[in-house]
Amino acid sequence: MSDRLHRFLFEHADVRGEVVQLDGAFTEVVSRTRHEPAVQRLIGEGLAAVALLSATLKYPGSLTLQLQSDGPLGLLLVQGGTGGGLRAMARVRGPLPDSNDLAEQARGGTLAITIQPEADGEQYQGVVDLSGGSLAAALEHYFRESEQLPTRVWLSAEESRAAGMLIQRLPGQQDEADADAWARAGYLAATVTGSELRELAPGELIRRLFHEEDIRLFDPMPFRFQCRCSRDRVTAMLQGLGEAEMRETLAEQGEVEVHCDFCNEPYRFDAVDIEALFADPATRGPDSTSAH
Ligand SMILES: [Zn+2]
Repeated sequence: MSDRLHRFLFEHADVRGEVVQLDGAFTEVVSRTRHEPAVQRLIGEGLAAVALLSATLKYPGSLTLQLQSDGPLGLLLVQGGTGGGLRAMARVRGPLPDSNDLAEQARGGTLAITIQPEADGEQYQGVVDLSGGSLAAALEHYFRESEQLPTRVWLSAEESRAAGMLIQRLPGQQDEADADAWARAGYLAATVTGSELRELAPGELIRRLFHEEDIRLFDPMPFRFQCRCSRDRVTAMLQGLGEAEMRETLAEQGEVEVHCDFCNEPYRFDAVDIEALFADPATRGPDSTSAH
């Protein structure tokens, strides 16, 4: 099990980086969501991306990556935060094209990154298109638009392991020597292959890629699969749908069963539970109030 993110810093240049490898967290999501391999790969890339992005946050908070389109991949939703929890779900309209081109898989789609600070503070959202053809390209686009920090991103996911790397030019002296270091870092990092990114120990990966550079490697940050669903949240959602709809479902199916979109956990409500949901007049849905 890895599920760790390693941050690193170029000692003599304003360049920083991160490498993340996820196996337990990724396989947990895959086993719960059960999609075809092409969708699983995108889920893996999305999980790695959210881990990389959440490690760039300067304050505690949560981060949502939402890809929406009219194409075969209707929705990819990945959530994480500075606490290290990760979860993901996808909705597909049909098989994804073999091209591995995100612009085709999610035709006309957009990628939205939403950051919600834990403390009181304003939510931030940045939205970009998918014309770059990959999630990594869309993220680079996002960084150009939102943070204005030159950033390069690599993502890779196969069967049981997802991984990603990010390098970023920090606002610093920005002199010529630094510009050269940034260009060199990008050139060296771009030689990474998907299997190296997934399989090599992060320390070794970083040493191999940047062997002539003086690199400081920080202690790793752990990540894990974590869903935020609960019976209370499902109860509130059912109350929102209204008493009439719940009673109809109950009459048709004998019970109301809801599965969490992220973790597939079942929540069951029988006739007594449904009765209790709407027993308090304050929770009676809008469609159950009489019309006089
Ligand atoms: Zn859940």
